[in-house]
Amino acid sequence: MISRIINENDVRRAAALLEPAHNVLVVTHSSPDGDAIGSSLAAMHVFGALGKDVHVLIPDAYLANLRTLPGAKEIVDASRYSDFAAELFDKADVVLCLDFNEPSRVGRLEDLLRSSKAPKILVDHHLDPDIDAKVVFSYPDMAATAYLLFRLFCRLELFNLIDRNAATCILAGMMTDTGNFAYNATDPDMYIVVAELIRKGADKQALYERLFNTFSANCLKLRGYALGEKMEVYPDAHAALITLSRAELNRFHYTKGDTEGLVNIPLAIPGIYYSAFMREEADCIRVSMRSRGTFPVNAVCADHFGGGGHLNAAGGDFHGTLDDAAAFFRSLLDENKKKYITDKE
Ligand code: MN
Repeated sequence: MISRIINENDVRRAAALLEPAHNVLVVTHSSPDGDAIGSSLAAMHVFGALGKDVHVLIPDAYLANLRTLPGAKEIVDASRYSDFAAELFDKADVVLCLDFNEPSRVGRLEDLLRSSKAPKILVDHHLDPDIDAKVVFSYPDMAATAYLLFRLFCRLELFNLIDRNAATCILAGMMTDTGNFAYNATDPDMYIVVAELIRKGADKQALYERLFNTFSANCLKLRGYALGEKMEVYPDAHAALITLSRAELNRFHYTKGDTEGLVNIPLAIPGIYYSAFMREEADCIRVSMRSRGTFPVNAVCADHFGGGGHLNAAGGDFHGTLDDAAAFFRSLLDENKKKYITDKE
């Protein structure tokens, strides 16, 4: 049996808000990932099955490999339909906020979200939620918002309304946020949920092919180039760095998502505890970092790159040239080693 974690009082309060609501607006974070899109579409399917008018509104474009998820064609992209976005907020009886913890995470929708008079329900797994919501389901220990949402559907007695489409979207969210159950994947209850989703018709293998094993030729060449020509390994400092300039990205016809996961690859090298990837954007150098074990990339990003995140996954940015950013990263290697790496590791 799955343990009951979600607070019963919150479930009742959410049910009281959702039951009379006809227009349900689902909002998620900018640059929506598989968990954001998967949980939003799952909510659309399940509350749609209750006869409600559900719209999924996203701040900007999402990755091409998510476009085949059931219902994805109905997603409203506010970067293309800003008037409609405002109309949806106006009409909403309730706003479901999925997979983000603060209003700034919804980018261009921030003002609409802040000024919306509709009651909000937050369902999220990021630390320290700061959303003005009537009901907050914040469970940072849960690996994916989609997983939390499944459990919430069950507690709302909507399990039977989870059809094959909703199950597919939930599984997509869970797979994305765990790297296909490679990390954040120790919770045994999660596999009970996976079993239920597969029983409902979700095709895990097809999702894997679509979400994890579909790349354009240009994308593969860019990744090959990044690893072959641009990866710097610093074994003594237990670190690695990859940088890609605008010109390099253009050479491989870079599109959003092409460098997704690249930062993780150097962590496969024994003795490399943290890895940084720097990409030149129009206005800054975007920095992302990953680590294994106890090395706190969130601290490094917060202290030096105006960002933050989780212990093993964080990001930030750098204002200056790409070369300066890389030199700055290299200049931190000794300090990072002294501060965060003990000899016994
Ligand atoms: Mn998530």
